[in-house]
Amino acid sequence: MKELCFATNNRNKIAEVSQMLEGKYKLLSLEDIGCHEELAEDQDTLEGNSRQKARYVWEKYKVNCFADDTGLEVDAICGEPGVYSARYAGPQRSDSDNINKVLHKLEDQESRRARFRTSITLYLDDQEYQFEGIVNGTIAHEYKGNKGFGYDPVFIPEGHEKTFAEMDPAEKNAISHRGRAMQKLIQFLQQK
Ligand code: IMP
Repeated sequence: MKELCFATNNRNKIAEVSQMLEGKYKLLSLEDIGCHEELAEDQDTLEGNSRQKARYVWEKYKVNCFADDTGLEVDAICGEPGVYSARYAGPQRSDSDNINKVLHKLEDQESRRARFRTSITLYLDDQEYQFEGIVNGTIAHEYKGNKGFGYDPVFIPEGHEKTFAEMDPAEKNAISHRGRAMQKLIQFLQQK
């Protein structure tokens, strides 16, 4: 079976994608390939960051691999927090501080349109491929729900009335940015 590294140590992400690959590839985490360092992601786009991580692993460890990067893009504040989503309100990387900053910036704004966007870069047999997943939605006026993570309590996906934090994981994954980008990657890998 062909081996493929997912440049993460998040076991939940690994398990979820392994299941989607239906045994066609053996999925390895960073630890599994002996990579114990924190991967740099200091580019100014999501695409740049996912490429930076995947390329680093490919070049240093010589294994086929993919990496992801996600951001929340809010129209009324020029696409912020975007690539800075994790540390929007500062290096403490606090979900509630980040959400409060977005809510504060939207106080006088009419539009609350936003989207989550995920970029995946794959290095397979020395070729680079990129995949994107998007879910459009709006930013709620207040926190709702306690599932999920990050900006989930204030993100209402288009066509729904509840936030991501009010949805079960399966319901969120079926329509989420990351779920959609992963589906594209998996479809591509299954055709290889
Ligand atoms: P990462 O690239 O998956 O590490 O995501 C970067 C940041 O975007 C996270 O720290 C969260 O603040 C935010 N984020 C990513 N995915 C989600 C999601 O599914 N729901 C809510 N926030 C997310």
